[in-house]
Amino acid sequence: RQTEEQEVRDLESSAAQFVVPDDFKHFDQLPISSRTKRGLRKAGFTEMTDIQSRTLPLSLKCKDVLGAARTGSGKTLSFLIPALEILYRKKWGSTDGLGALIISPTRELAIQIFEVLRKIGPFHTFSAGLVIGGKDLKQEKDRLARMNILVATPGRLLQHMDQTWGFDCSNLQVLILDEADRILDMGFSKTLNAIVENLPKSRQTMLFSATQTKRVKDLARLSLQDPEYVAVREAEH
Ligand code: ADP
Ligand code: MG
Repeated sequence: RQTEEQEVRDLESSAAQFVVPDDFKHFDQLPISSRTKRGLRKAGFTEMTDIQSRTLPLSLKCKDVLGAARTGSGKTLSFLIPALEILYRKKWGSTDGLGALIISPTRELAIQIFEVLRKIGPFHTFSAGLVIGGKDLKQEKDRLARMNILVATPGRLLQHMDQTWGFDCSNLQVLILDEADRILDMGFSKTLNAIVENLPKSRQTMLFSATQTKRVKDLARLSLQDPEYVAVREAEH
């Protein structure tokens, strides 16, 4: 039986060399950890949706990805799985700080993402939290300092970054911009740019959107490096 130590060592190369098989449709076929596979199984997920099967082989190869597919097509797992896997491969631990940041337009959507993360992540050891406002900013700051994965709304996140205590993102590996079109529709363009400026450049970035407007593409140019574009058309559903 493969030890976890061996698995961690092998995952990166198996993802890098992964060739999509003809009958590619199950999460179990992905080059991902058994911890994530068990989490997916426990949550009842077996077959991938189109956006998942088309973006996961790329994002697991650490490529920047712009994924466009309609609401309800399964974009959440398309970015939560790589977020868990990238940190797992790096043996991310409690002292490594913030490793993955997910930005979502609204509190409600952020909470939904957080719930999916909890559903598929019970076998991982990462700490995860929400940054959606409500509580006292100073009180919240101490809690955030211990988190490996954060799901945040743009306004609240920038509030933290603007404070004297700052917000230590210096170790960030993965940035996810979810529902990017809605983030822009809500007038968060400048906020988002200010956030992205605070983040290390060497990160992996994934941007997901229901639509591909010019503004989404402009944002992609600003935040992604040499991205792969994946658009699932309506007829494919
Ligand atoms: P989107 O972000 O594209 O709007 P979500 O990620 O919120 O879509 O997923 C929409 C719904 O589909 C959710 O109820 C989710 O649980 C379900 N879902 C996502 N992926 C799968 C899958 N592979 N198998 C079954 N159900 C799925
Ligand atoms: Mg969504």
